[in-house]
Amino acid sequence: MKIRDLFTGKPVISFEIFPPKPDFPLDTVFATLEELKGLNPAYISVTYGAGGSSSARSIEIVDKVKNHYGMETVAHLTCVGATPATIDTVLDRLQALGVENILALRGDPPAGDSPFIPPADGFPYAKDLVRHVRGRGFFSVAAAAYPEGHLECRDIDQDVEYLRLKVEQGVDLLITQLFFDNATFYGFLDKIRGRGIACPVIAGIMPVLSASQIKRITSLCGSAIPAKLQRLMDKYGGVPADMEKAGIEYASEQIVDLLANKVDGIHLYTMNKAKQTKQIMENIGRN
Ligand code: FAD
Repeated sequence: MKIRDLFTGKPVISFEIFPPKPDFPLDTVFATLEELKGLNPAYISVTYGAGGSSSARSIEIVDKVKNHYGMETVAHLTCVGATPATIDTVLDRLQALGVENILALRGDPPAGDSPFIPPADGFPYAKDLVRHVRGRGFFSVAAAAYPEGHLECRDIDQDVEYLRLKVEQGVDLLITQLFFDNATFYGFLDKIRGRGIACPVIAGIMPVLSASQIKRITSLCGSAIPAKLQRLMDKYGGVPADMEKAGIEYASEQIVDLLANKVDGIHLYTMNKAKQTKQIMENIGRN
């Protein structure tokens, strides 16, 4: 199924997973998928190249999600180290597997190799990949959006203008970077709707499962930590079980508020944690 057909007025709940590190067997993520299936997500998205993971592993997981577990899937794809020809090889493979949805991203270079430098004949921006994937006529295409602006472009108006140009290339829906303050997301929605971006916008939510994890991730993606969450991290950060409980509650409250405000969808960054994802789904009345 093409994900653009999922939006019929009810909020769509989806999950993100990532391939385990190369020295971990793929079975670890398959065990997670087994459990996530019971939560009936609208689709599962699988990251690509993030944190140095290999594209072969991403494709293997996408295949498993779609063809073994029978869940809808979205394959992330990036421009890092890729030419149109190598991208077509990956797209041919995904198409042959029956995968109909691509999250088209510029991508980030592997840790330590910064900034992003496109290959001589590669794509400099996600919008170029969006155009390329759309040009094949088979896939539904999603793209990334940044409620607080992308780290390399903190002028939010300029970033939104680039987003508008990206959507114009044929984006069916946007999935946001994680954020911890819903007011920021609502302000961003108003801004992009005012600029004529009309496609569904899925709110990206990541539960804080440990204080150190969230410090590392926010330093990479630039999402702000509001005072209320900072207080929880100060209070519970030293006791892992308490921090996890507070983080799950915080994310659940965020989602309940977003659903009450009729968002198009929620994309949970599961961190491959099935038990915690289940708890969130239960808290929000979706289990
Ligand atoms: P773009 O939309 O190309 O934007 C990149 C930068 O270029 C921005 O600063 C933008 O303002 C600027 N820009 C855009 N167009 C122009 C233009 N015409 N002229 C000048 N500047 C311009 N990374 C991975 O490696 N693998 C993953 O699987 C992955 N999954 C992700 C999933 C989600 C939901 C999100 C939000 C991010 C994900 N990322 C992933 C991270 C993403 O690749 C990085 O944030 C990357 O730095 C930007 O990607 P983009 O697709 O948003 O790029």
